[in-house]
Amino acid sequence: MDFDLTEQQQQIRKLARDFCDAEVAPHARELDRTEAFPDELVPKLFEMGFLGITVPEQYGGLGLDYLSYGLVTEELGRTDASVRSLVSVNVGLACTCLLTWGSDEQKSEWLPRLTSEGLGAFGLTEPNAGSDPASMTTRASRDGDDWVLSGSKMWITNGSRGILTVVFAQTEPGTGAKGITAFLVPQDSAGYEGNAIHGKLGLRAGDTAEVVLSDVRVPDRMRLGEVGEGLKIALNALDSGRFSLAAGATGISQACLEAAVRYADERTQFGRKISGFQLVQQLISEIYLDLEASRALYWKVAWRHDKGERHTVESSVAKTFCSEAAVRNADRAVQVHGGYGYSDEYPVGRYLRDARVTTLYEGTSQIQRLLLGRHLTGENAFT
Ligand SMILES: Cc1cc2nc3c(=O)[nH]c(=O)nc-3n(C[C@H](O)[C@H](O)[C@H](O)COP(=O)(O)OP(=O)(O)OC[C@H]3O[C@@H](n4cnc5c(N)ncnc54)[C@H](O)[C@@H]3O)c2cc1C
Repeated sequence: MDFDLTEQQQQIRKLARDFCDAEVAPHARELDRTEAFPDELVPKLFEMGFLGITVPEQYGGLGLDYLSYGLVTEELGRTDASVRSLVSVNVGLACTCLLTWGSDEQKSEWLPRLTSEGLGAFGLTEPNAGSDPASMTTRASRDGDDWVLSGSKMWITNGSRGILTVVFAQTEPGTGAKGITAFLVPQDSAGYEGNAIHGKLGLRAGDTAEVVLSDVRVPDRMRLGEVGEGLKIALNALDSGRFSLAAGATGISQACLEAAVRYADERTQFGRKISGFQLVQQLISEIYLDLEASRALYWKVAWRHDKGERHTVESSVAKTFCSEAAVRNADRAVQVHGGYGYSDEYPVGRYLRDARVTTLYEGTSQIQRLLLGRHLTGENAFT
């Protein structure tokens, strides 16, 4: 693997960093404090092409490689994880589902809209079906040329502020995983209700919604993939989602390093900068160790993807390590800041709260370990 970035990759990373510093960073604290969705930023993200970074140009995207996507995602994660999350779900989950499983008609209709007009969401989790999505109860019943969907989804990123949700529903009750089918559901459909969830520990500027589907009617042409293929589609998209989550978590680790070094250089105790104390240096060097390992792991996923190789195991490894490293690193960065780290005068408290969700969503750390354990002992866990 070549660790040298191409000129184009260096440029896109710089573009993303400059954009994040100028447009995202100045608002991050206030949006977090007020739990406000970054309404004014989303059109700028569309303009930059970041909401369609891997989508082919024919559908309005930038058509860039996966490593470029990871680099942009890392920069967003370094600046504001709420913003990173809304981009990851649009690109890594909603657009990926369409690109991989959509018909030509579905791709032509929806990808240009998801890369320029409004956000896509991914509706898998339900109030009583999280780690075990096969137990979902949202039902889709056939009615002539239409499907009628009813049930509810929980914790859906972009679920109330987007334009389209990929909804996974049970079409053959009693058949578990085999009876799940995916549908493209416009968020302005009659019977679709997205209720924003407030009071989250982190990602407070992100739109996380409970989605209620009350007899939502969609024509059969909005079915994504074949009947019964839904869980396969969801798990396949999660390979991509976990990659961008890993890159975003690496961004949080990078932000922790920068904040810890900066503060250690500013703060004086016992008549000298705290950066001169070896125990503070230890905290900083531990952040760096976890950061470097995180970056190498998500780059490896990108390397495999850009060669056209499957990366399910690598995505799971990167997701697990990078998310847990981000939590450790944010905790260390708070420690370097002492009491000041415990207030929002400094961003490290937000990094810790934002990092915390990364070990929970897109498959908890426990679920990743279960899958890896089964895979390593010969079971076909990653189907
Ligand atoms: C901010 C946020 C955004 C999200 N965005 C989305 C989204 O856009 N789309 C979407 O579909 N979902 C989304 N989710 C949902 C997320 O993916 C789920 O929360 C996650 O999969 C865990 O499900 P759960 O919360 O129901 O926890 P549970 O599955 O109830 O798990 C609870 C605990 O039990 C453990 N556990 C469960 N089963 C096992 C087992 N077999 N062995 C060992 N331990 C186990 C888990 O690891 C966890 O520690 C989001 C969640 C959050 C918080």
